[in-house]
Amino acid sequence: PNSKLSDGKPRLLLMGQRRSGKSSISSVVFHKMPPTETLFLESTARIQKDSMHSFMDFQVWDFPGQLDFFDPAFDVDNIFGEIGALIWVIDAQDDYLDAINRLNTTILHLQQTYPSINVEVFIHKVDGLSEDYKADTFRDVIQRIQDELSDAGYENAPVSFYQTSIYDHSIFEAFSKVIQKLIPQLPTLESLLDSLCNNCRIEKAFLFDVLSKIYIAADTTPSDISSYEISSDYIDVIVDVSEIYGWDRPSKAAENEVDGEDQIENPDAESVITLQNDSYLYLREINKYLALICLMREDSRGKKGLIDYNVGVFQDALAQVFTR
Ligand code: GDP
Repeated sequence: PNSKLSDGKPRLLLMGQRRSGKSSISSVVFHKMPPTETLFLESTARIQKDSMHSFMDFQVWDFPGQLDFFDPAFDVDNIFGEIGALIWVIDAQDDYLDAINRLNTTILHLQQTYPSINVEVFIHKVDGLSEDYKADTFRDVIQRIQDELSDAGYENAPVSFYQTSIYDHSIFEAFSKVIQKLIPQLPTLESLLDSLCNNCRIEKAFLFDVLSKIYIAADTTPSDISSYEISSDYIDVIVDVSEIYGWDRPSKAAENEVDGEDQIENPDAESVITLQNDSYLYLREINKYLALICLMREDSRGKKGLIDYNVGVFQDALAQVFTR
């Protein structure tokens, strides 16, 4: 295995023009900064590697106006060689034509050498726009990018578009979609979650990267964003509480050295909260990065043993998926 491959974690690179919102996005998503505090952030300077306690690996790269990043002085291969997705941030509240030109140039360059990189365009800061203007802007950006690429002879470019803001859950939702494309085991994870839901009458189940609140998989029943929102708010509460009251547990590896089996009875954190509308949330720590959150009806409450058992099965299956 390549040591540069950062433990096989999905790798993301965040690019876009100065003030487009890159530092804000990484601070809010990966460092739990309240959105309003980003007003006082220093703008991104050059490459920042963000190594954090997360399921994914993340770099932010600023695009200073005068700098040509295809300059041979840059080790392009080192930067793009192992990237899973390039996220390009466009400020929807600003004049975006220049940003689009740069993005198109970048895509055309990249497709020659790194055709497998997903290009993910975040049309960002949409919180400040009216619904109509927001929809028009979204359409306009997509149109301009697709037209230019197809004029250049590049049809069906692997480019996706999202409307994002750090002031609501849209930035987390977009990151979740981006990350899920990079997880080859996603169909397996989804079917494991589906069967967990069937067996325990769970309405919705998410597998969350705890630190970033990005979900790397969910069961496949359709749901609205509110179940994601409530689950992610719940993670915030749990993380805050466990930062105060948590305790250091031995890592799974250390445990396994003892006798190859789980020695400590149920060592993973677990929490349940009842909601107003006759339903409740169940959270279970899965490994050092991931937690399972299930949204359930009050009537499945008496089945705690059944749920614990099935979650244990799920957890074992998951461990196999990720060591394979
Ligand atoms: P960078 O140079 O690309 O790293 O941009 P910054 O992260 O420094 O952001 C520039 C400005 O945009 C800051 O004042 C942020 O508060 C603001 N900003 C970032 N994201 C959003 C957003 O989603 N909505 C709004 N309204 N402002 C944002």
